Amino acid sequence: MRKKIVAGNWKMNKSFEEADELISDIQDGLEKITLDRNTLLIVCPPFPYLEMASDYSSESYFLVGAQDVSANDNGAYTGEVSASMLQSMELPYCIVGHSERRAYHHETDELIARKVDQLLSHDIKPIMCCGEVLAEREAGQQFDVVRRQITDGLFHLDNDQIQNVVIAYEPVWAIGTGKTATPEQAQEIHAFIRQLLAEKYSAKVADTISILYGGSCKPSNARQLFANPDVDGGLIGGACLNADDFLAIAQSF
Ligand code: PEP
Repeated sequence: MRKKIVAGNWKMNKSFEEADELISDIQDGLEKITLDRNTLLIVCPPFPYLEMASDYSSESYFLVGAQDVSANDNGAYTGEVSASMLQSMELPYCIVGHSERRAYHHETDELIARKVDQLLSHDIKPIMCCGEVLAEREAGQQFDVVRRQITDGLFHLDNDQIQNVVIAYEPVWAIGTGKTATPEQAQEIHAFIRQLLAEKYSAKVADTISILYGGSCKPSNARQLFANPDVDGGLIGGACLNADDFLAIAQSF
């Protein structure tokens, strides 16, 4: 049975004190609720707060992930953070290929594939984001765009490696805009992604891979989105900055 996952992408938000408060609120909140045994909760704060989050997580029920990683090994890459550094902190997950990195840092599918490789070779599971921008959706190109991102970003992996990847479908027009994909739109692309995986690997392999939805997911719409057979949870931006909302989403399966 594949994992249900709710991952919170804090992006570039919170002071150190605010981060401490939010993580502590998540920890306290988790004491009061029971998550399904098959549900993973992942907190992805900015790099400077990873150690603090990891310390909390060692006494709680959530896991910690980073928001990005370098495509390079350790060395002269000022400002970058390597997969071996994340591994030395025992981080289990890391987001790669987020649309904001594709847009503002000009990340290509080829670069993202190298980041995926760095993570997997350091025993860290990538949460690989894909998704079309509004103009592509309006031109009916969403399937082509997602196919290219998945093929170029992931399909060099072998049968074992791909099963350590989480995919997040995030239509860019729904990120931070308050415009959510309808449950039908989400299911349509998620089923398409699973079909791509089945064709490249096998139906059995495709069935093990968690595919998350991201884009203005909140407590009021999470249940409808997660009710779809190919939607295995969410990558949450804005709503993960509030512990109650984040935990409400995690209880929406
Ligand atoms: C995201 O950026 O990954 C995201 C899903 O953001 P939001 O939930 O704020 O749309």
